[in-house]
Amino acid sequence: MALIITDECTSCGICINECPNEAISEGNDKYVINPDLCTECVGFFNEPQCAIVCPMEAIVPDPEHKETKEELLEKKKRIHGE
Ligand code: SF4
Ligand code: SF4
Repeated sequence: MALIITDECTSCGICINECPNEAISEGNDKYVINPDLCTECVGFFNEPQCAIVCPMEAIVPDPEHKETKEELLEKKKRIHGE
């Protein structure tokens, strides 16, 4: 499942460098996650790194983008070619 950034985001920018897939970018009024690039950190870390560092707890699972662990691993392979 991809993660999504809620309106609690203060655009502090802490999360952006934590993502192994460069899925996070600065949006108009908050940071955003590209669901095509977010693998929930599967293949790299045991937990979503962005959600761990966010001081606002503004990064949560996105029910619109449900995926199995296998699908997330496939996405990771597609992104990184390995
Ligand atoms: S959960 Fe992992 S892959 Fe997804 S946006 Fe956060 S840091 Fe990136
Ligand atoms: S760490 Fe949290 S508050 Fe800061 S930019 Fe990322 S989502 Fe927004």
